[in-house]
Amino acid sequence: MNPFQYVRPTKPQAAIDAVAKDPNAKFIAGGTNLVDLMKRGVMTPQKLVDINRLPLAQIERQAGGLRIGALALNSAVADDPQVRARQPLLALALNAGASPQLRNMATVGGNMLQRTRCAYFYDTSMPCNKRAPGTGCGALEGVNRMHAIFGFSDKCIAVHPSDMSVALVALDATVQVSGPKGPRSIPFADFHRLPGDTPEKDTNLEPGELITAVDIPDGPFTKHVHYQKVRERASYAFALLSVAAALDIDGTNTIKAARLAMGGVAHKPWRLAAAEQALVGKPATEETFRQAAAVAMQGAKAFKYNAYKLKMGPNAIVQALKTAAAA
Ligand code: SF4
Repeated sequence: MNPFQYVRPTKPQAAIDAVAKDPNAKFIAGGTNLVDLMKRGVMTPQKLVDINRLPLAQIERQAGGLRIGALALNSAVADDPQVRARQPLLALALNAGASPQLRNMATVGGNMLQRTRCAYFYDTSMPCNKRAPGTGCGALEGVNRMHAIFGFSDKCIAVHPSDMSVALVALDATVQVSGPKGPRSIPFADFHRLPGDTPEKDTNLEPGELITAVDIPDGPFTKHVHYQKVRERASYAFALLSVAAALDIDGTNTIKAARLAMGGVAHKPWRLAAAEQALVGKPATEETFRQAAAVAMQGAKAFKYNAYKLKMGPNAIVQALKTAAAA
């Protein structure tokens, strides 16, 4: 590992200043991804700004919803009574991610900022436009069974690995950030980016901006929810593909509102807005769910080794919706 400086500020502005003034500085919280990347030489920050002493770990009620501090641990959020009662989809997605040990270290902000698990990104002997812009994409013609079927470019076909973020995009969350130009809010759907010509940028954060909290508005999705994660090891593995599903169903079994998003299919958590519209006003039946799944998969395109996702995707959507409806 390369040598680096280490500072531990106690005020958010001091942390923001430390990173904003130094392009080689990085925030660190749980470090469950960044330390791995540093050990492998994928990321080589010259300064780490430890933000664990900042007062950003609260989970609290605010007008119209919940505010979750950026430093709240994944395990604390998943176990929080307010989260479980008001946003159970988020608790399910968090508990599907990583292992108990990692959830006890990883923070909400860090979860959003974790980097892709594309094997070529982690292997510094291989071409990778995300790690080293202009070197090419090893996965395009390589082993791409974990890779994207939506929203990719000819520069990068990686997927975002977070489970939590799939639930947050479905729940219309908003990211609160603070930076050199002051605070601002970013709709969760706009927080992560598609790769385009600049796959080295995972998010729309500006240099020096610090995530301070995530806001989730109250909604009707307190009962009929499910997070369906398909993976190769139930104990601990990243998603081949996942589905966050939430339904509001009235007394006549009619769907009043729906939220649907997928993970493991794109460079960002993939909201399925057209499929949601296809569900509203329909009976909560398997036939309705299959029709919505067909809408959801429109435009999907596979590479040599990930064509299985074109079949797995609609099946996982139907399974998620059936389980949510029965909850
Ligand atoms: Fe790098 Fe993206 Fe290609 Fe993977 S898919 S090798 S992360 S450019």
